Amino acid sequence: MAEVEVQSVSKLYDELWAVRQISFIVPAGSFTSILGPSGCGKTTTLRLIAGFSSTDEGQVLIDSENINSLPPWQRNLGVVFQNYALFPFLNVQDNVAFGLRRRKLIPHEISTRVEKALELVGLPDLERRFPKQLSGGQQQRVALARALVIQPKVLLLDEPLSNLDAKLRSEMRFELKRIQRETGVTTIFVTHDQEEALTLSDQIVVMNNGRVEILGTPRLIWEQPRSAFVANFLGVENLIPARISELVNQGAHAIVEGYDKPIFIDSKLGKKGDEIVLGIRSNDIDIKCNPKESGENKVSGVITDFTYLGGTIAYQIKTSLHTNPLIAASRRELSVGATVNLNLPAKCLMILNSNRLGDL
Ligand code: ADP
Ligand code: MG
Repeated sequence: MAEVEVQSVSKLYDELWAVRQISFIVPAGSFTSILGPSGCGKTTTLRLIAGFSSTDEGQVLIDSENINSLPPWQRNLGVVFQNYALFPFLNVQDNVAFGLRRRKLIPHEISTRVEKALELVGLPDLERRFPKQLSGGQQQRVALARALVIQPKVLLLDEPLSNLDAKLRSEMRFELKRIQRETGVTTIFVTHDQEEALTLSDQIVVMNNGRVEILGTPRLIWEQPRSAFVANFLGVENLIPARISELVNQGAHAIVEGYDKPIFIDSKLGKKGDEIVLGIRSNDIDIKCNPKESGENKVSGVITDFTYLGGTIAYQIKTSLHTNPLIAASRRELSVGATVNLNLPAKCLMILNSNRLGDL
């Protein structure tokens, strides 16, 4: 088990900073995900840790030792790429044994370790097959066994599940978690899939445009995404530009254009006068059909469209707020054109930093 520290690391490609001054710590034995949209610098970060490309600024440390000048094969890291990168001309046994042979282990040790690694990933009895004779899921397991067999200090996984179909992907997700628990290996998992990151990780690093946007536990990031970018990326459907008009004992009041009363929020992030974004998830908005029903932060509107999500229906509702139509989820069947009252519960409203709204 080893701790990884990325310290003010930057990488310049031609004129473009693929990553810029990123810093984070991956605790020993943790499962840490790097989450972000395509092109935000996830693979670059992983390659810098692995040593496949060199940093232009900053350093990577493993257990407090600067490894910048070590070539990849001396870093003792296991890497699994999105396309698995198995050697097509080697069978499963030889693919997995590859790193051990290069390390010149004795044959008996090699075969014992290969056998154990294949057992660990749930793939016994396929040693003689070649990669093209395996399914995507099986190839994935071989790639994992090949990375783990060298008993790496750190396991680096670059979108390892994205080539699998939905069912296999969720199966492999559980498998990854089990394998990580059994081995205790420090794992850095790159993904653009928020659900994968939320379900697998002890800690998530969210990246945007070459920078670290937020770092925290899945729960913290889900409940307090802090920026409009992260909220949007985590699927918060309603982002409403607002200004904090007052801080009160239990939270804050905000002004939203097109709404004549203050909106109450149970959160105190920010200060009076701040331009912010209010975030609220569609299933946290209550739809009331009876206009007499009361509730917090009442807004009325007209249903303009809906999407059936299986279980719930997401309604698009045009209101007087100067923002996109609100999205509210409900199990009830309502018709387009109906007037409804919405409650935006104060405890469900998030105060978000609006700096990055332009990037959405
Ligand atoms: P992600 O893995 O998050 O999709 P990458 O780390 O692959 O993103 O890429 C980050 C940025 O760096 C992108 O704009 C990409 O086009 C650029 N980039 C990545 N690799 C290279 C390279 N070898 N040469 C030039 N630009 C690159
Ligand atoms: Mg990538």
